[in-house]
Formats: sequence, structure tokens, C-alpha cells
Amino acid sequence: MERRNTIQRQLVAEAVCRLDHPQAEEVYEEVSREHPHISKATVYRNLNLLAEDGTIGKLHLCEGADRFDFRPEKHYHLRCKKCGKVFDAHIPLLPELEQVTDEADGFCIESYQLEFIGICAACNKQA
Ligand SMILES: [Zn+2]
Ligand SMILES: [Zn+2]
Repeated sequence: MERRNTIQRQLVAEAVCRLDHPQAEEVYEEVSREHPHISKATVYRNLNLLAEDGTIGKLHLCEGADRFDFRPEKHYHLRCKKCGKVFDAHIPLLPELEQVTDEADGFCIESYQLEFIGICAACNKQA
């Protein structure tokens, strides 16, 4: 891979890690703050490349744009309906849910998201 591409990829991956479940737009804002020459198309392309090769995860939640996750392995999420922030749920994978993906009457399951919706600690404090 070209050196320039490698550097851009690295910048995008680092931004995803710093921002913690960001949307593509937020990654672009973060990267372009220090590297104003980088285009939105480049950031979006790198995000999708990183998600395709499994370096980062891509989340399709019930509301809002897709988000990117620096933990690529399967895990569940909490979403605050007030501020929109997404957190990792620190519980092990539920074996019953994982089984569904093995035996689904010929239905070919590619992915699923388990999302807990509520109010985060910071928003709770403000209220
Ligand atoms: Zn919140
Ligand atoms: Zn996560």
C-alpha cells in the first residue's frame, strides 16, 4: 500500500479510538482539525476500508447514522436517548443469541445489534 494511504488510515483509526463510537461526520471533523487538507471522501473511504477488513467495527443502531467502534469484536451497546452517546455494555455475549445465527430455518443471518436504550449517568446527573 502507498505510504500516504497508510498514514491516512492510521489517522482515521486513531480518531475512531479517541472519539469512542463516533459517526463518520465526527471522525471527519476530528481528523480535519489537525489535517485540514484531508477530504471528507478520503476519511469516509478509509472508515469503510477499516470496517471491511475488520480493524474496526461498524454499528447500525436503531437511530441515527452508522457508528464506528475501535473494538471490532462482537459486543452489546447502551445508547443514551438524551445526548446520543453510545457506550459498551460490559456483559458477556448471550449464548442463546449467538445460537440464533447458527440455526435460523434457512434464513441467512449476517449480523444483529443488541442495544439498550436509556439515560446515561452524565445526563442523569444534569436532570
Ligand atoms: Zn446522555
Ligand atoms: Zn462498542
